[in-house]
Amino acid sequence: MVAQTRVLVVEDEPHLRELVCLHLGLEGYACEAVGDGQAALARAEAERFDLMVLDVMLPGLDGLSLCRAVRNGRLNRDVPILVLTARREEADKVVGLESGADDYLTKPFGVRELVARARALLRRPRAAAKEAAAAGAVDALPPVTVHDIEIDPARRRVRVQGREVELTDQEFRLLHLLATHAGIVFSREALLSKIWREDTFVTVRSVDTLVKRLRRRIEADPAAPRYLLTVWGVGYKFADV
Ligand code: CA
Repeated sequence: MVAQTRVLVVEDEPHLRELVCLHLGLEGYACEAVGDGQAALARAEAERFDLMVLDVMLPGLDGLSLCRAVRNGRLNRDVPILVLTARREEADKVVGLESGADDYLTKPFGVRELVARARALLRRPRAAAKEAAAAGAVDALPPVTVHDIEIDPARRRVRVQGREVELTDQEFRLLHLLATHAGIVFSREALLSKIWREDTFVTVRSVDTLVKRLRRRIEADPAAPRYLLTVWGVGYKFADV
C-alpha cells in the first residue's frame, strides 16, 4: 500500500480553487486547499506535501515570496511547485532562478493541461529523497504506509492502526528499514551494521533486544507478532504485504 499523493493548493479565487481540487482529486490526489499565502506557509512548515499548486497573486503573502519561503524551509524545500499566473511575463519571473518554482500555467488553463503538468512534476525524483538515500539517512524520506502502519520519517511519527506510538531513534530506524523492505529477511549481523552504524560495543544480542522493544510498541500481542516476524536461524523480517 502506498501513501496517497498530497497536494497543497493555494488560490484565493474560490471557484478556481475548487476546480483545481476537483480535477486533481479525480486523479486520486488528496488536495488540501488554502486561500492565502500565510496559511499556505503555515501548512508547508507543518507537513510534507508531494506537490504545491499556487497562485502568484495572493493576499497575505504573494506566491513568489511563498515559493522562496518554502524553498528555505525544512519539510518542503524540494517539493515540486506549479505556479498559476494571469500573465506570461509574471510566470517567467517566478519560474526563474530566484523563487524556485518548477513550472507554470497561465490563466485561463484547461484542466487536462493542469493534470498533465501535475503528473509530470510528481514523476520527478525529489532531491531530498535522492540525497537521503545516498547518505543512508531516513529523515528526509517520504511517508510510507505498510499494512496498517504509517511511518513519516520527516516528523519521526509512527501510527499503528491510526494510533500514534512513540519510538526511540533506534526503534524508528529498525521499523523503517524492515517495513520499507517488507518480506525481505535481514540477518542479525545485517541489522547490526545498518542500525548501529558507528557504535562498536554491541552484539547480535542487541538486535534481539531492540526487536523485542519495538514489538512491545507496535504489536497488539508481542508474543505473537503480526508485523515483525522472526525467521528462525536467520534473522527478522517485516510481514509480506
Ligand atoms: Ca489570485
